[in-house]
Amino acid sequence: MTTLFISDLHLDPARPDITTQALEFLETGTRDAEALYILGDLFEAWVGDDDPEPEKRRVIAALRRLTDGGLPCFFMHGNRDFLVGEGFAADSGCKLLTDPTIVQMYGTPVILMHGDTLCTDDHEYQAFRAMVRNPDWQRGMLARPLAERVALAQQMREASSASMAGKSMEIMDVNQAAVEATMREHGVYTMLHGHTHRPAVHRFELDGHEAVRIVLGDWYTQGSVLSWDEDGYVLRTLER
Ligand code: MN
Repeated sequence: MTTLFISDLHLDPARPDITTQALEFLETGTRDAEALYILGDLFEAWVGDDDPEPEKRRVIAALRRLTDGGLPCFFMHGNRDFLVGEGFAADSGCKLLTDPTIVQMYGTPVILMHGDTLCTDDHEYQAFRAMVRNPDWQRGMLARPLAERVALAQQMREASSASMAGKSMEIMDVNQAAVEATMREHGVYTMLHGHTHRPAVHRFELDGHEAVRIVLGDWYTQGSVLSWDEDGYVLRTLER
């Protein structure tokens, strides 16, 4: 039996090929799995659980088939779909996870994160994050009419790409000291996250422990899945 991890699909009606691959993965790629973890940015944007957009509904229905079939599915928020709420959880059958969450993977404790909180050099983003993760801000946003939320999400995405264009790759990557502080705080030296779109397995030593930070890839040009079973983990690319 295998546990599967994905993140950063950034599903968007403007990129239907990603949705097609994601739906195929959910239907056939999860057959031997005993759990599925989605570590954020499943959706390019999420304006509320009441959004009837058909592509989102198809993805929710696909998750529902999995959870109805007995596959435990977990969802952690990313910096795009931070407004996913209990309505999504009820519709999809996914359990919402806090960031970070520690799980036991066949005897190895692992810290699961989206990854954005580790990018501490990006002060502008961290200030934005503090704002949009504030429950009062979220309540205010969700109280607006759907059409207004869709327009605001579009504006925020445009502002985000404009601001990212002016930032170096280093600023937008994780800060190693933040990684180490998180590992020390939890006493867990294996970390798994997405967000940076730089799939890799980083090994280093920390306080005499063999530390490892596994980074999931995005799905822009191919799929990226981490499979973990009793023999260990494999970071796989799904061609399309
Ligand atoms: Mn992200």
